[in-house]
Amino acid sequence: NNENLFAAIRAAFPRDLDEIAIETDTGLAYSWRDLDRATAMMANLLASLKIPAGSRIAVQVEKSVEAAMLYLATLRAGYVFLPLNTAYQSAEIEYFIGNAEPAVVVCSAKNFGWISKIAFKAGTEHVFTLNDDRTGSLLERAAHQLDFHTPAAMKAGDLAAILYTSGTTGRSKGAMLSHGNLLSNARVLKDYWGWKPGDVLIHALPIFHVHGLFVALHGALLNGSKMIWLAKFDPRLAIEKMRGATVFMGVPTLYVRMLGEPTLTREAVKSMRLFISGSAPMLVETYNEWKQRTGHAILERYGMSETIMLTSNPYHEKDGERRGGTVGFPLPGVGVRVTGDDGKEAAPGEIGNIEVRGPNVFAGYWRMPEKTKEEFTADGWFKTGDVGKIDKRGYVTIVGRSKDLIISGGYNVYPAEIEGYINEMPGVAESALVGVPHPDFGEVGVAVVIPKPGARIDGEQIVAKLKAQLANFKIPKKCFVVEELPRNTMGKVQKNLLREQHKGLFG
Ligand code: ATP
Ligand code: MG
Repeated sequence: NNENLFAAIRAAFPRDLDEIAIETDTGLAYSWRDLDRATAMMANLLASLKIPAGSRIAVQVEKSVEAAMLYLATLRAGYVFLPLNTAYQSAEIEYFIGNAEPAVVVCSAKNFGWISKIAFKAGTEHVFTLNDDRTGSLLERAAHQLDFHTPAAMKAGDLAAILYTSGTTGRSKGAMLSHGNLLSNARVLKDYWGWKPGDVLIHALPIFHVHGLFVALHGALLNGSKMIWLAKFDPRLAIEKMRGATVFMGVPTLYVRMLGEPTLTREAVKSMRLFISGSAPMLVETYNEWKQRTGHAILERYGMSETIMLTSNPYHEKDGERRGGTVGFPLPGVGVRVTGDDGKEAAPGEIGNIEVRGPNVFAGYWRMPEKTKEEFTADGWFKTGDVGKIDKRGYVTIVGRSKDLIISGGYNVYPAEIEGYINEMPGVAESALVGVPHPDFGEVGVAVVIPKPGARIDGEQIVAKLKAQLANFKIPKKCFVVEELPRNTMGKVQKNLLREQHKGLFG
């Protein structure tokens, strides 16, 4: 039997193919039949190119339904999808295309000139264009293809996608994900999050990242659910669309922006059943404020490009309550453990390195065998690079990334702990603690704090308050009050930039 992920998705289409599958913010409606035919035509186009098995299809285009269809068509045809962040410019594209050597590159017409040059230099034979208004050579060529196609025969272990990590801690790595990785995780989430007939998803995330491409898209498709498609996130529009929807997925910054809208009321979310957050830590305050405004406890989950989803707060009450500030329990079938630097498993509540295994865990980094080997333990667990703890009841809490850990005078300082204290102070919206070099202590913490709108706060007072609460080695040596934190497109705080900015403070 065929273990192609597309075959499972196709099997989940509703019986009536004329039902609406996707409704866009530009007023278009796509039926399930449209999805089936268009992905067949694109898959036939890819097949007609006679590119070898395992060929990468690299795609950097604006978010559109056709771009999502191209992903599905790539699965269907049995090739490897490789999405690229729309923010990437020539240096980044040159690296990714040079590294991945795709057989096909698809880009926006406005970038064709420089991207095709890079692609041809790297040996790519086919460069197509695809714009967000249903134009471009990819669609023109696909229009001549037959509109039926039998999904390519795939095994669970065959490569489905290469997803480059966000590059938060260094150069992006290409995570190789198989059909089996993606399908097993999607099936677990369908069940764990209680997807049911009649669900409607608001799709407001970019589709070059694990959250929007896999978690959101697979969730709706495997449930045969309609999607309300927002090409760009607009908080007011998202709230408006909730009247006809049941599920929303977002990164924390999206929730913060919606909280800034007076139209966000209990009434506005009446038909909603579930709000999911992830990709970056959500402030407990955001969680609390959302609950107060809408009556909904946001369900926070945790995952990464290399593993798709790992842990989740419970959906069903029988599984426990949702706890803000935690990322919930390991998903069914996923192993999560916390180990000390000596490799021994930590006691409940003790902080250590988060390691994982399961059918969702990737096979390795693309063309980085050494790096891959380093990131797996001798007994086969993947080292996530995140630091956290698991309490007695099994709730997982992330306290930061091992690369952000500060070692000051020989003591470990966990940024999330200090940030938590700072965030609770009046007038503080949020904060970030980073380590910078120091002649005496090796490293010391420097805090960067964002005030709430209109609030006046003072860095020295914040440090003084912390001194009254915490051990001396944890106290930031400097505290800056600034307007905003540097973030990437997924709303992740870029601590590497802060470290760079402040590295000369004590040197
Ligand atoms: P790189 O690996 O290139 O440095 P990245 O780790 O940010 O970048 P992604 O795979 O997009 O790239 O993100 C995964 C990371 O996001 C996780 O390792 C974790 O640090 C963070 N993350 C995801 N969900 C959560 C969450 N709910 N709470 C806290 N952190 C989260
Ligand atoms: Mg990472």
